Amino acid sequence: MQISFKDRVYTSQLKNFVNSENNEVLIAGWVQETRDLGNLKFIILRDREGTAQICMKKKITGDEILNKVKELTKESVISVRGNLSANPKAPNGYEIFPNELNIISIANVPLPLDPSEKAVKADVTANIDTRLDNRFLDLRKKDVTAIFRLRNNIINAGRKFLRDNKFIEINSPKIIASASEGGTELFPIAYFDKEAFLAQSPQLYKQMLMAAGFDRVFETATYFRAESHDTTRHLNEITAFDCEMSFVDTENDVMDVIEGLMKTILSEARDSEEVKILNKEISIPEKFPRLSYDECLQYLNEKGITIEWGGDIDTKCERVLGEIVKDKFGSELFFITKYPLKIKPFYTAPENFDADDKYSRAFDLEYKGVEISSGGQRVHIYDLLAERIKRCNLNPENFKFYLDAFKYGMPPHGGFGLGIERILMRMLDVTVREVILFPRDRHRLTP
Ligand code: ATP
Ligand code: MG
Repeated sequence: MQISFKDRVYTSQLKNFVNSENNEVLIAGWVQETRDLGNLKFIILRDREGTAQICMKKKITGDEILNKVKELTKESVISVRGNLSANPKAPNGYEIFPNELNIISIANVPLPLDPSEKAVKADVTANIDTRLDNRFLDLRKKDVTAIFRLRNNIINAGRKFLRDNKFIEINSPKIIASASEGGTELFPIAYFDKEAFLAQSPQLYKQMLMAAGFDRVFETATYFRAESHDTTRHLNEITAFDCEMSFVDTENDVMDVIEGLMKTILSEARDSEEVKILNKEISIPEKFPRLSYDECLQYLNEKGITIEWGGDIDTKCERVLGEIVKDKFGSELFFITKYPLKIKPFYTAPENFDADDKYSRAFDLEYKGVEISSGGQRVHIYDLLAERIKRCNLNPENFKFYLDAFKYGMPPHGGFGLGIERILMRMLDVTVREVILFPRDRHRLTP
């Protein structure tokens, strides 16, 4: 018999029917568990919202249904129409006595992994590949589902914050002709008879939109990065809040926006059901400390770590700095500001808008000792920008389409890229692969 799902209810809605006159409900989902106690049989059915107990008694339930139950394998999809009844002993305080049971799709045995197990709190290092190979099953786990619901919630909260702050959402091209940053982290693609690449970031396009007069733009952008390193915080395809804003006085105005955005995201997470499921506590600092690159070098020095001026603050140093700042300022988030100009991309504004400046207006945001965002004020002066491109050993000819936007009226501006996977991985203390549905890394192109 053809069934219709039109009057299907979620397991979370069952409580609304317990005391109603018509207590017949239709639910559908996956068989999480079956229990056979002889005269009494149970199915635990799971849907998006939770689980429900289905109870079958020999004398009450018809043979047709009981025979079907014998066929059922774990994780098969079924629908059940039945009468709801309160039972304090049942998992959620109620159970369903079926009048009709349909097997919609039988799951093969054995399962490559068991969705009723916990993922995040278990030792994930051992089985992350099995989990990712069978991601559709892994995602059925309650705690894994919670990560992606949380991801959805923080993206929505971030979007709302940015819209409320007058940012316009844009979509910039993902097929580009020249490197945004001049780095080597580009994936070349075949674009008819031309050389082209997948975009590393919307950088050049969002800056051009400052010349267009948009004033404030953002993109929930995809970055493609051909980085070959194999780490717990790098992927080759990621998502980021990418923002640019005009008429800034200094990079501090940009940091104010990130700080507001991050506080919104953190408080959305802190108050969520998902974070409870994941057993995490989120702390939100009143103010994110802003420490200059030089101050950071000094703090590291006090711990016996020496970085030559102009050198990168590497992963290990970031971690140590994270601990120092947490001790000194009680904050898990902080900015590193005033980076040396020579280690920042060409579009970075020099401290005093002179190509010979020692310092820049660039910053990074750190969360629990890992970079989650880079940003800064940009160069908005044509001659200086052309000079900076040359000094970064790049050819201004390749950037003509971009440079032209600086010739006919460009306001002072700044912006940032804030990695969504990095936020989640630090928030939940997991690796980057766990917070993206289908990770792309050095070794993984499927599923
Ligand atoms: P890192 O030094 O940590 O490799 P980056 O400085 O190369 O990062 P940016 O170009 O500054 O990265 O990109 C802005 C933000 O995008 C980063 O702060 C980070 O949150 C995120 N991001 C960049 N590359 C990656 C990546 N490969 N995997 C995950 N997140 C990334
Ligand atoms: Mg960076």
